[in-house]
Amino acid sequence: MMEPKIKDNRWSKELEKPIYESWKTQKTYLFKKDQRPVYSIDTPPPYVNAPVHIGQVTTYNLMDMFARYKRMLGFNVLFPLGLDRNGLPIEMAAEKEFKVKLTAVPREKALEYCNKILEKACLESVDSFLRCGISFNSWNIGNGLGEIYETDSEDYRAMTQETFIELWNKGLIYEDSRINNFCPGCQTTLADSEVDYEEKNTKFNDIIFKCKETGEDLIIGTTRPELVCTCGMVIFHPNDERYKHLNGKTAISPIFEKEIQLKAHTLADPQKGTGLVMMCSAGDLSDIRFFREMNLTPAIAIEKDGTMNEHAGFLKGLKVRIAREKMIEELKNKNLLVKQQDVTHRTPICERSKDEIEFISMPEYYVRQTNFLDNLTDYAHKLKFYDSKSRQILIDWINSVSIDWPISRRRFYATEVPLWYCKNCEHVIIPPKGKYYRPWKEKPPIEECPKCQGKEFRGDERVFDTWFDSSNTPLYILKWNRDNDFFKKNSPCTLRPQGKEIVRTWLYYTLLKNHLLNETCIFRDVWVNYHILDAKGKKMSKSKGNIIDPQDILNKYGAESLRLWIAIEGNLEKTDFMCSYERIEGAGKTLTKLWNVSRFISMFECVQEKPEVLLPLDKWILHELNHIVQLSKERYDRYDFHNSTIKIKNFIWETLASHYLELVKSRAYNGESKFSEPEQKSALYTLHRVLQRVLRLLAPIIPMFTYKVFSDMYDLDIHLLSFPKMQDEYKNEFSTQELIDLNSVIWKVKKDNGKSLRDPLKKLMLPEKFKSIESDLKVTHNVEEISYGEKIEVDL
Ligand SMILES: [Zn+2]
Ligand SMILES: [Zn+2]
Repeated sequence: MMEPKIKDNRWSKELEKPIYESWKTQKTYLFKKDQRPVYSIDTPPPYVNAPVHIGQVTTYNLMDMFARYKRMLGFNVLFPLGLDRNGLPIEMAAEKEFKVKLTAVPREKALEYCNKILEKACLESVDSFLRCGISFNSWNIGNGLGEIYETDSEDYRAMTQETFIELWNKGLIYEDSRINNFCPGCQTTLADSEVDYEEKNTKFNDIIFKCKETGEDLIIGTTRPELVCTCGMVIFHPNDERYKHLNGKTAISPIFEKEIQLKAHTLADPQKGTGLVMMCSAGDLSDIRFFREMNLTPAIAIEKDGTMNEHAGFLKGLKVRIAREKMIEELKNKNLLVKQQDVTHRTPICERSKDEIEFISMPEYYVRQTNFLDNLTDYAHKLKFYDSKSRQILIDWINSVSIDWPISRRRFYATEVPLWYCKNCEHVIIPPKGKYYRPWKEKPPIEECPKCQGKEFRGDERVFDTWFDSSNTPLYILKWNRDNDFFKKNSPCTLRPQGKEIVRTWLYYTLLKNHLLNETCIFRDVWVNYHILDAKGKKMSKSKGNIIDPQDILNKYGAESLRLWIAIEGNLEKTDFMCSYERIEGAGKTLTKLWNVSRFISMFECVQEKPEVLLPLDKWILHELNHIVQLSKERYDRYDFHNSTIKIKNFIWETLASHYLELVKSRAYNGESKFSEPEQKSALYTLHRVLQRVLRLLAPIIPMFTYKVFSDMYDLDIHLLSFPKMQDEYKNEFSTQELIDLNSVIWKVKKDNGKSLRDPLKKLMLPEKFKSIESDLKVTHNVEEISYGEKIEVDL
């Protein structure tokens, strides 16, 4: 018996650690500039304040499959990891951990709390990525090409400020006080893209306005009676016969008794409520748009802290909710409330803190975007989306953008707005690019105001919206303004992989910012990933207790079972991805099978050169695999690992292990010298060639498993090899199914008669087409006499 070159009896997760550790310490995947074309991946930087979750682990593993596949095609793959350390999530974590309100402590102190949170975070949060064997360029934090970057590093923040300075110099940034989304919880202005909606239970109140001219009652339904004080107009639909006569007349508001214009406007829905609508300056987004359109002066009745102000009269000082109750009380007392109805109302809430959004006017900086929506729509059509359905999410968002992008925030742990103001004449001082500035604690880079020669300045205390930072990632990894040759040569960035839920933010703002800076489309491909659900198809959440911890899976099954499962499950045409331990365990069985097959083949001498004679049975399996190679190439090119992995898996189980190995075994051993040397050589060549090709197809998917088999058997690093090419086209006289059926019939007859599979067969009649593999069939099934006829006949 020959000794297998693979010593380990079975594949186990313990074999993974030395492999991924060596990739880390030996910097195997470090990015070095060379002659090869660059394939760049703008990896989403995960937030560092929580360990990565199963959804991230799934999608980063898919990204790694893309990266490894592209390397095998000869690309120099730029695949850096970034860590997102800016913004509200960090501040919220600090507030929770230290039980403080950061808005209530000095700024230095607030930053200290954030830094304490960040100290603990760092690389531990991405440990799952390392254990999965993900081939990031580097596991070191730094500013170099492909190194791990942090969005709060001086270098990154300096670039964020550079983008601001450049946009400022191009006249694309302006300051304005306008009504905006405001989160009372986070105490900051929010962009529309940061607002979510939730159906909330509330009351629809029919309240009575009067018509000044006719004295009639005007009944108006509203969920927010506390905003009557800000009502700027009462509208009805132009075709609404009930109210046509009111056009141009005056309404008197209840309790406040203010005079308000009555007007026909298509925004009113005759089917909703009474058909009369009070338009308030801070009711919701459509109200805000309406005020802008109608040129009405908004009256703001809600303060930053969520209490009513002097505009609200007797409601002044009350929180919005209490004010609403009090107003209803008062309307009841004055018989101005006709009825109340329970309804669910689509309520805008803060995406992060879930507080109800209010609308407040504050001076903020805006980036012009409404003038460029046509360019962005062009990009949306030009980009290659995988799956193409995702394109529509972007287009829908672009179509909904109606105001410019507010980028300044009244928070702390983020990149500072790099501006100073002359205390004497308010002249704005904008510093030169190339440095990280903190105007709230630093002096401006000039001594005196160029306008009035004043010597005192005030630094801006605001910071940027986190998307103003995150929209730089492709610029940062491609060294914009750092290595402009490299940037020019390698722009656009090849791939942006990301989640569906941040198309309207991360993808949109990145495209916008690069358009404003460079007037190009910054990506070629966009891959949008799935939602990860539990085994029953339910969303995972802490409250439901159905969260699957990736570390758990790694401890139980190892990374390679997980990765194979991800490839099998990851069907881009479906939208969701169901995670179950059983299926991950099931993927492990395929690894065991492939290990056994490899170990078996590793007993035989490897014939690397293609021999002069190839037997028809060998040609058949090579041809069969060739089709899978072709399919895999086509699919992998479209970021689809699902369809081909299923084919490869079936090939391993159904074709290779169950049939080819059974049929070729005897010829490969050739113990009794029944075969000639060239016949045996053909078997040995084919066994190794098939195995090598299968492993190379799977190398992007199960990198550690394939690495281990390849180095044990051939002393080669499989990840330095190229992706298999279409070759081995042979014409077969029988189909794979016909051969499988033939074997099955013979085995069944033996089994049904209580014989073992090796027991001899007296006579076997076969269709002519199997003549070419007669010798292999004869030995495998131990047949004394083979004859040819119409159908299969087995004679014991
Ligand atoms: Zn909030
Ligand atoms: Zn001045």
